Amino acid sequence: MGSGPPVYCLLPATYYPLCEMSITRELRNILGDSKVKDDPGTITAYSTDASIYKLIPRAVSFIEEEEDVPKLLDFAHRRNIPLTIRGGGTGLAGGAVGSGIVADFSKYNQILEVNPQKKWVKVQVGHIYEELNIHLKRHKLMFAPDPASGDACQIGGMLANNSSGPRTLRYGTTKDHVLEIEAYLASGQKILIKKYKLGEPETDKFFYNHPEFKKIVQLVEEKREEILRREVKVKKNSSGYDLPALAHGLDGGYLDLPRFFVGSEGTLAVFTSATLNLVEVPGEKVTLLVFFEDMGEIAHAVGELLPIELTSIEIVDSSSMDLIGRESYDLPPSSEAMLLIDLDYGDQREKVERIKEVLAKYRLSVPLVEESEVSKQEALWRARKAILPTLYRYDPLKKPLCFIEDAALPSEKLPEMLLFLKELMRDYDFKFGAFGHIGDGNLHVHALVNGNDPAQFSKIEPLTAAGYSKVIELGGTIAGEHGDGRTRAPFVERQFGPEVYKLFWEIKNLLDPEHILNPDVKLSNKKALVNLDYEKLNWDCSSCGKCNSYCPSYEAHREDSFGSRGRFRVISYSNYDFREARDILDDCLNCKSCRVICPAGCDPAEETIKRWAEHPPRILAPWLGAMKRPELLERIFSLQGRSQKLWDNNFFRPLVELLSPTSFRLRSEVKLPRLARVSIRNRHPELVERPETELAYFYGCADGSFDNNTGEAIITTLDKLGFNVTLPKQSCCGLPMETYGFMEMKTEVARFNIDSLLRFEHVVTGCGSCLLALKEYDKLFEEEDPYHQKAIELAGRCYDFSEFIIKKTKLSSLSSISNGKRVTYHDPCHLRAAEITEEPRQLLKAMLADRFVEMDYADRCCGFAGTYYFFHPEQSEKIFERKREALKDSGAEMVVSSCPTCLLQFKNQMGEEIEVRHPAELISEVV
Ligand SMILES: Cc1cc2nc3c(=O)[nH]c(=O)nc-3n(C[C@H](O)[C@H](O)[C@H](O)COP(=O)(O)OP(=O)(O)OC[C@H]3O[C@@H](n4cnc5c(N)ncnc54)[C@H](O)[C@@H]3O)c2cc1C
Ligand code: SF4
Ligand code: SF4
Repeated sequence: MGSGPPVYCLLPATYYPLCEMSITRELRNILGDSKVKDDPGTITAYSTDASIYKLIPRAVSFIEEEEDVPKLLDFAHRRNIPLTIRGGGTGLAGGAVGSGIVADFSKYNQILEVNPQKKWVKVQVGHIYEELNIHLKRHKLMFAPDPASGDACQIGGMLANNSSGPRTLRYGTTKDHVLEIEAYLASGQKILIKKYKLGEPETDKFFYNHPEFKKIVQLVEEKREEILRREVKVKKNSSGYDLPALAHGLDGGYLDLPRFFVGSEGTLAVFTSATLNLVEVPGEKVTLLVFFEDMGEIAHAVGELLPIELTSIEIVDSSSMDLIGRESYDLPPSSEAMLLIDLDYGDQREKVERIKEVLAKYRLSVPLVEESEVSKQEALWRARKAILPTLYRYDPLKKPLCFIEDAALPSEKLPEMLLFLKELMRDYDFKFGAFGHIGDGNLHVHALVNGNDPAQFSKIEPLTAAGYSKVIELGGTIAGEHGDGRTRAPFVERQFGPEVYKLFWEIKNLLDPEHILNPDVKLSNKKALVNLDYEKLNWDCSSCGKCNSYCPSYEAHREDSFGSRGRFRVISYSNYDFREARDILDDCLNCKSCRVICPAGCDPAEETIKRWAEHPPRILAPWLGAMKRPELLERIFSLQGRSQKLWDNNFFRPLVELLSPTSFRLRSEVKLPRLARVSIRNRHPELVERPETELAYFYGCADGSFDNNTGEAIITTLDKLGFNVTLPKQSCCGLPMETYGFMEMKTEVARFNIDSLLRFEHVVTGCGSCLLALKEYDKLFEEEDPYHQKAIELAGRCYDFSEFIIKKTKLSSLSSISNGKRVTYHDPCHLRAAEITEEPRQLLKAMLADRFVEMDYADRCCGFAGTYYFFHPEQSEKIFERKREALKDSGAEMVVSSCPTCLLQFKNQMGEEIEVRHPAELISEVV
């Protein structure tokens, strides 16, 4: 089925919306209301994945229980609507977009069982890859394949694409680690995908229940010779269906279904859970960096290096080094290729010596660099990881398009392929970057193309065809790890020849006769360059989905529309409509995690704020207006502090809930912060406005008025360390105003704060959000505005409390704290955005030594986010659940954080279970 009128709808075109409505209504009746959405925001967010395609689905269904799958398949058959199965939507070939119903598995994500002795895990397919390995760490085990998209891709997508990564050299691909998969065929029948021994009663029963497999076996046996003649002899392949695996299995007396189904890209079956083989987490790693003068020598050198049992070996070619900037990454000007080698098992010393011996024969641009310290290893990997994001920012119009981006060749053929590509790209006048896993012969090639320029666009097809012909000629595969999807489907026949290609179709017809599952993916007669997302081709955002992994709103909903990637899309497309997108905007916590994580330098949070600024919620204006007036706010808060019992009581709160507006309802169960009866300024009148001092304490609205100890701890510590502290006049930092788009108000408070604070040499704050706001005031002013320069000056004087202690005092003056508790640290999102993550840890480690423990997900949002908790308490609690688990697993008895509202969230959610402190409270005890 294409994107034309629905075939079941016999009414004239004007009635199609009614048909759509009835589809959604029927599907809701079948699955339940909350599991089906077709609002503009949702279908827009699901219309693309990380590929170049855009297909608007009719509706999106969210799989929460296994029973949903057969029901959905039955519905799709009855209504003849295609189903697109979707995991993290990070696929690069368009496999997770479709014009029918998208079935999103993100909410189907439980770990069902871990067997540490036998080293396997059973997991539902919606589980995110990296989160699985974080969980398995406690058993010192891991699921080995390591796609670079591991923070956002899901197990289902990995199985469907046969994903892999740099570690494939040592551990193989996803296929090599699958024991069993529970799945549904298009008919709605459940099957257990496993290796069946021929002749066993269980296998006979399987054939009896699923006669189509008997037929498949027959077809494979008939065409065995041609299947094996066309077998791709490379270390990884995700093109076509793995018929050689079936043929080899049958030779050995098995029906090897896992190898056959893994890599089928959602076109033959819907996977629901998988039992995966695990390996032990490797020990310490050594990283080597090598620069070759001559590309021609690489193939031979790699051939000599591979027997040394490397964990991974990566290549970056000279054009990539040129594009990312040799100077920026300290790359030798004459080098033609860079190799990055990781070693993490065996006798590493001996291996390093052997590598040196091998390399001594070749012309290197600079001597080999060896590193065993983790932070320095990361620095070595910096250039490799920078390639793709840099390519996105290289030219505002030309973007790195994925077409010949995933070939895998016999590794000795890779240099020849690179030289061929260099000439090809020169002939077509495209700049390009090439990099990849040379150990497995896997090459990622990205040409910079203006997709909206017809002259450039018309070159893509012949260029791709030429590139693929060369790959096939060299004995390679067109898809090493990303699948065929829509991009390579038209080239699959060229890869495998007409006879095997026909067999693929026969198998598809046997298992999915109505072509319900992912039509046009893997097998298609359509051209590759249709249904493209032309708008996205001009964005810096590649839709990689990495930001979703840090987006708390995504964590609460597990729906792409509420993730930062989907939000960014919804608000960036030209058909954006505020009313349709309001809920999606409203669910952004303005935590800035997306901009911190984005490899392409995008800032979905800022785009969200710009959209709010077009329609700021007027209902909040009086409250935010009061925050502009510090004396008034102080008085209001003090009054509330004195009357807390009254407005916190069971009678008053329901009344407040009733009176508050629907979109900003203050629910009665929400725990309000305890406010101080006397504000910090009134508790310390002697410190107020001392212009002769050098250090201003910017306490912010929270530490100025909450009933907590942070303010006193900061003042005491700084005083003991010999600094003269003052409490200068100050207004709200402006962050709450920014969150709701009141940018004029934010600019007003910025001017006020700049004028007041620039009088001091240092400005210290104990709140991550205040720090970030103070440091970024320059963004509010045009360059010619004098406040722009003043804001830059102020930014240079502002410090987080821990940062100030580390940078301006001597750590040795801190003695060890003796409370005996194990302590962990939670990163406040805005402090992380201000790039302060190490300093609080350094302080804690200095005071606690080995009683400091890291918790998993320390750098993920706690869900409070200023006002978010008050208006979205359920989501906020959902977001916190991950923290609760991580805290328990860490064994910590105290959590420390540098943000007053994060501390509030921990206190509210954990009660007496754990002690909650600001770093200043601990330090004040030991200085
Ligand atoms: C920045 C970036 C880096 C990448 N690096 C790598 C890499 O190093 N190695 C690599 O292998 N890939 C890489 N990829 C590609 C991609 O991330 C992987 O293929 C990934 O495994 C896809 O997983 P997903 O959950 O996002 O799947 P999706 O994109 O949602 O879907 C991919 C395919 O799987 C099918 N599918 C999903 N779930 C199921 C299911 N339950 N049952 C049946 N079919 C299903 C879909 O229909 C689709 O055809 C990268 C992508 C990006 C954006
Ligand atoms: S905003 Fe950045 S991280 Fe998020 S999808 Fe776009 S490119 Fe990826
Ligand atoms: S600011 Fe936070 S909540 Fe908003 S889109 Fe970014 S990561 Fe998600």
